[in-house]
Amino acid sequence: MKIPYGKQTINEEDVISVVNTLKSDFLTTGPKVKEFEEEFSKYVGAKYSVAVSNGTAALHLACLAAGLNENHELLTSPMTFVASANCALYCGAKPIFIDVKSKNGLIDESKIEEKISKKTKIILPVHYSGLLCNMKKIKEIANEHRLTVIEDACHALGAKYKDSKIGDCKYSDMAIFSFHPVKHITTGEGGMITTNNKELYEKLIILRNHGIEKKEKWKQEMIYLGYNYRLCDIQCALGISQLKRINEFIGKRRKIAKKYDEEFKNLEEIDFLREEENQLNPYHLYIIKLKDSKKREALYNFLKSKKIFCQVHYVPVYWHPYYKNLGYLKGICPKAEEFYEQILSIPIYPSLKKEEQDYIIQKIKEFLKR
Ligand SMILES: *Cc1c(COP(=O)(O)O)cnc(C)c1O
Repeated sequence: MKIPYGKQTINEEDVISVVNTLKSDFLTTGPKVKEFEEEFSKYVGAKYSVAVSNGTAALHLACLAAGLNENHELLTSPMTFVASANCALYCGAKPIFIDVKSKNGLIDESKIEEKISKKTKIILPVHYSGLLCNMKKIKEIANEHRLTVIEDACHALGAKYKDSKIGDCKYSDMAIFSFHPVKHITTGEGGMITTNNKELYEKLIILRNHGIEKKEKWKQEMIYLGYNYRLCDIQCALGISQLKRINEFIGKRRKIAKKYDEEFKNLEEIDFLREEENQLNPYHLYIIKLKDSKKREALYNFLKSKKIFCQVHYVPVYWHPYYKNLGYLKGICPKAEEFYEQILSIPIYPSLKKEEQDYIIQKIKEFLKR
């Protein structure tokens, strides 16, 4: 028995949906793409959705659609997957890292304005683990400085923030999602951009397809340097089928999280990231914090020896050698660095069995008693 920190949930209906598409006339650029986009828009409450080949492509295209180029800077969190900052580099722009809040690893909105310069173009908040950034404040800052807001919502499909559902872009210009197997729903590889802005939508559709605009008959004109970032019908068929079960998936994740919360709240050595009022956390990750960071690696190793495979989300982005070589120094976001030392993502996914969760909890307690 091996327990990973996250994995997909595929059923027979998913398989049938994919097989039916394989037997149909279109394997790509067919009706399933539109259908997936429409269902997705309906679910999150956005006007438009654009399906793309993965979450990273979604970030890249969102930045391009916002007009990001080599004269610009993009503000984001260091407590994220590298793709949230790489998208700036793809466009020749410079990522600027804003420190996070110690209690939950989310971008500290009170530190954004001091990093805004004449070059700033985009704020890209990350809804880390499924917890939600202070979007109201971030949108206010963006409006004041005429910046574009792109939400990295890869961890937050199904999340609710005050009167809004993440992806409805109430407090942003675009939101992006990933359908990698560890995320809430999967298409193998896949991503989505949502927006309410027609101009951005039309630009994204063209950028996804080599920058080619369809005119009448055989006439097509390439007007941007675009990419082939299409998601194919086979993948969209899986996405449509998965999306039907999103509420069930989130319900199961939340149930697992509540049980962990219950079990850990009286343990001295462990803290965990808490859901706040006015929000619904769909729990992409369940993250514990070891008050004594020196024990983190020992716990990771202990659990691994018991076939429980945890992960650390994330090493601060600018610690990676590539960023170091670009000149980013250690210490620029001290809170994020301290946070990183303490965190561990423990298993959470819809098909995690009760016995498995009991076993995980028992092993963590066993470690702490040693
Ligand atoms: C998964 C993820 C991405 C990238 O998505 P891919 O589909 O793997 O390219 C970007 N940002 C965050 C926060 C993610 O978790």
